[in-house]
Amino acid sequence: MRSERISNSASVYIFDDIEDYATNVFLIEKETKFYLIDTYCGTDSMKPIINTIKNTPRQKEVKVINTHFHWDHIWGNCCFKDNCIISHEICRAFIDKYWEEQIKESKQYITGTTEKQLPNLTFKERIFFHDDNIELFYSPGHTVDSISVFDHKEKILYVGDNLEKPIVYVEHHDIPTYINTLKSYLGYQPQKIMAGHTLNIKQEDIFDTIEYLEGLLAGKEMLFASNYARKVHSRNLKAVQNIISVY
Ligand SMILES: [Zn+2]
Repeated sequence: MRSERISNSASVYIFDDIEDYATNVFLIEKETKFYLIDTYCGTDSMKPIINTIKNTPRQKEVKVINTHFHWDHIWGNCCFKDNCIISHEICRAFIDKYWEEQIKESKQYITGTTEKQLPNLTFKERIFFHDDNIELFYSPGHTVDSISVFDHKEKILYVGDNLEKPIVYVEHHDIPTYINTLKSYLGYQPQKIMAGHTLNIKQEDIFDTIEYLEGLLAGKEMLFASNYARKVHSRNLKAVQNIISVY
């Protein structure tokens, strides 16, 4: 794990112990609160973040945010039992429903330990923390339960897994809704875009992703530079054709 500052108030913790991709956890520190975006894979991975929170000169409330229900974003929730953990209402239901299945499939990636800790505050459309100019909003795409976070002060948009390079991973078959979500991001006019597995996404990456999704929907022949991208694309094709529904 390594950490980097990405703005005046935010840092990223980058974990690289899963093959194929790095995973980002973001910690935003405001006047009276910390906002932690995703909790990665278990207790050990959260230790440096908990240290940072504890070592701040003035105790601050911690709001944990789950961008979606996938295991690599939520297994550290158990470290924050006494805190507010926020997600979309579908995310809470999915974490509960698929807990055992996700453990069974990916338990080799648990760092330290994990236990089921569901979000304790859910919403449908949006939540606004006015004191800190932080907005959480529903943004279905990569999964049907995905949410995004916009820091209106620093103009940083955190998109979970809705954007990713070299290729997005499509699990939910509703591509038109996914495209609408990506178009809605442009309306925020973000100065920086951070994703669960890719830092510093550019506006042109949003346009490229929309083009990719339109191609996927139309069954267009597409070429990819890496085996990894080819592998994800063939999974995406199956998800769109509803041949497999992963969850
Ligand atoms: Zn995901």
